Amino acid sequence: MNSDENFVAIAKHVCPVCLDQHTYNTEILINKKLKAIDPEKVTTGYSLCMECDDLNKNGFLALIEIIDSYPEGNQKVSFQEANRVGNIVHLRREVVDSMFDVPVDKDTPLVFIDSKVMDMLKRIADRLNAT
Ligand SMILES: [Zn+2]
Repeated sequence: MNSDENFVAIAKHVCPVCLDQHTYNTEILINKKLKAIDPEKVTTGYSLCMECDDLNKNGFLALIEIIDSYPEGNQKVSFQEANRVGNIVHLRREVVDSMFDVPVDKDTPLVFIDSKVMDMLKRIADRLNAT
């Protein structure tokens, strides 16, 4: 066996908030036939990275700007399919609850918002920064 080939590897997950690949709270992969694990194939799922998990545990909800956040029929957008713009705001859940009349499950770490909502949040932040 080549020394670069491992039949044990640490799995990587993709953070659904920031899309970073990470090994925080992931699993160990073992090839049962003791064959080398392809390093390109160790990404096994989605979970929060350490930074986004800390924010979530400390009461912050990630608001992620996407294009066409709510297609016809108000269906939910999956985070794999969301067309992200690149802007993310972390707001305290109490603030989100007081601003929006949309119930957010307490276990949900993220919600998608459209550019109108992001613009509104930017105007509020500018106003707060100006005072
Ligand atoms: Zn993250």
